[in-house]
Amino acid sequence: MHLDPHPLAHLDPRERDRLNQVTHACYDMARRKLGSAMASGHERGRRIAMRLMDEAVSTGQELQRMSTACKPGCDACCHLRVDATAQEIFGLIDYVAEHQGAAAMQRLHTRVDTFRAAMAGLDREARLRRNDPCPLLQDGRCSAYGARPLMCRRHHSLDAQACQAIKDSPEIDSNRPASAVVDMMALAVLGAYLDEGAAHGMERTHWDLVDGLHEALNDPQARLRHESGDPAFVHAMSAPTA
Ligand code: SF4
Repeated sequence: MHLDPHPLAHLDPRERDRLNQVTHACYDMARRKLGSAMASGHERGRRIAMRLMDEAVSTGQELQRMSTACKPGCDACCHLRVDATAQEIFGLIDYVAEHQGAAAMQRLHTRVDTFRAAMAGLDREARLRRNDPCPLLQDGRCSAYGARPLMCRRHHSLDAQACQAIKDSPEIDSNRPASAVVDMMALAVLGAYLDEGAAHGMERTHWDLVDGLHEALNDPQARLRHESGDPAFVHAMSAPTA
C-alpha cells in the first residue's frame, strides 16, 4: 500500500480548498486527542490512533455518501506491501500472543520466515512488484484484525474488481480506486499520529511490516531498543520519508 501524497491533485481548486479545510480540521482534532493519549504512553496513543483512523474513514465515507466495495473475505489489499511504526508492529505481535496463544505465534513465525525467504535479496521496488499474501492473512481474513496498522485501516475501495486486478497484475502501476476525501482524512490522522508521537518521543519511522515482524520475533533486543527510545530495528527496511 502506498501513501499517495497528492490525492487531491485532480480536483478543481475550489473543491480542493474545501477539502483541505476539512482535512486540516481532522488533523487538528486528531492531534488534540492524541496529545492527551500520548501523555499516558505510546501504546495508549496507538490505540486511540486506531480508533481515530476508523472514525475518519467512516466519516469520510458518510460525507461522500460512498458505499465501500470492501467486504469480508475480499483480501486483495492484504497482498500489497504495508509499512508500520515499531509501536504498531509490537502491538500486532502482542495481540496475537494475547488473543491466540502459543500455536498462533509459532504459525506467525513460520509464515514470516517463509515470506522473508521469498523476498531475500530484493530491493524495495522489487518487493513492491510482488503481491505475496501478508503473513497475518488467514483464510481470507486478517488474523490480527483488531490490531491492524493504520495503513491497513485507511484502506478502502470503490471497486473490488479493480483491486483484484491490481493484486493479479503486480507489474502494472495503478492506483486503487479510492475516495480522495477519505484518503485525505485518513492521511490527516496518520500524520497527526506520527507528529504527536514524535513530540512524545515515539520513533516515527515506517518500517516494512514483514521485516519488522521478523526482527521483532527473532531479536529480543529489538523490543528493548524500542522501549528505551532507540530505533527498534537494525536490519528491517524502512519506508522513504515523505
Ligand atoms: S496486517 Fe492484516 S489487514 Fe494488514 S495487510 Fe496484513 S492481513 Fe491485511
